[in-house]
Amino acid sequence: MTDAAPKDPSAPAAPDARRLPHPASYPMLAGQPALVTGANSGIGKAVALGLARAGADVIINYVTDPQAAEEVAHEIERLGRRAIALQADVSKEDQVQAMFARAIEHFGTLHIVVSNAGLQRDAPFDKMTLDQWNTVIGVNLTGQFLCTREAVREFKRRGVDDAVSVAAGKILCMSSVHQEIPWAGHANYAASKGGVMLLMKSLAQEVAPYRIRVNSIAPGAIRTPINTQAWSTPEAYADLMTLVPYKRIGEPDDIAQAAVWLASDAADYVTGATLFVDGGMTLYPGFATGG
Ligand code: NAD
Repeated sequence: MTDAAPKDPSAPAAPDARRLPHPASYPMLAGQPALVTGANSGIGKAVALGLARAGADVIINYVTDPQAAEEVAHEIERLGRRAIALQADVSKEDQVQAMFARAIEHFGTLHIVVSNAGLQRDAPFDKMTLDQWNTVIGVNLTGQFLCTREAVREFKRRGVDDAVSVAAGKILCMSSVHQEIPWAGHANYAASKGGVMLLMKSLAQEVAPYRIRVNSIAPGAIRTPINTQAWSTPEAYADLMTLVPYKRIGEPDDIAQAAVWLASDAADYVTGATLFVDGGMTLYPGFATGG
């Protein structure tokens, strides 16, 4: 092999042969275009803005409400970054592929993909319809498969660009505490997030040699439209707090901060991990006073 021949990206490195990260404090994501699904609302919107504040240009994916998506794009432009809003239903293969093709054409490549889009279709188990089951699995799990597959294809194609990151790409899957906590009345949702956990880990194992990092964020109760009924009245909020040792609801920005760190070279040795951002919801709060 001559010096000019491309190196096998999956070859094991000699000890000390690879650069270690020297993350800049700000803007740590400059030059790293990011695609965020479901980015016109809630957590996705906060993550898109957080990544932009950290220097990334951002693709705002949406499925409904283009005006909200345009508003997020304009907010990002006001931060001095570039942004485009692209419509795609993440559960549809042709739409996901068209969105990634358009995103890569627009920004040249992608370095960060946040697979965030998700929904709930709640029902007691014996009343749950196949349509409710399929809709949730289609968006929350198949959508993650379709988006992360396109991300891996682009990251493998490009490889590491040392000028912007020591990794070839970063994938963040938006999971939930319900990848761990069973949830009566929401079996489709909990099953989808449990699926995301092992999809994420299996993918992380497979693509680590290519220096592609794959991690999840598992939010607890975050103040977004998906769970308005859990926090919008004083009674509901008080009820919710019995599940949250840290005694405050999470804000979308709590998730954005975690996403920026996980997407940055500051987290370069982190892959296959789920970062719980939940105010202690997974600490069995019922045992705090005995058990
Ligand atoms: P949200 O309803 O504000 O946002 C969900 C986003 O996903 C919206 O933009 C919606 O349009 C989009 N979406 C839905 N179906 C889509 C599809 N087929 N294609 C593309 N986009 C689609 O709710 P959120 O709380 O911001 O949820 C974001 C993610 O966080 C979800 O995956 C959710 O499961 C997860 N999550 C939220 C909480 C919470 O407390 N809010 C807790 C744990 C996990």
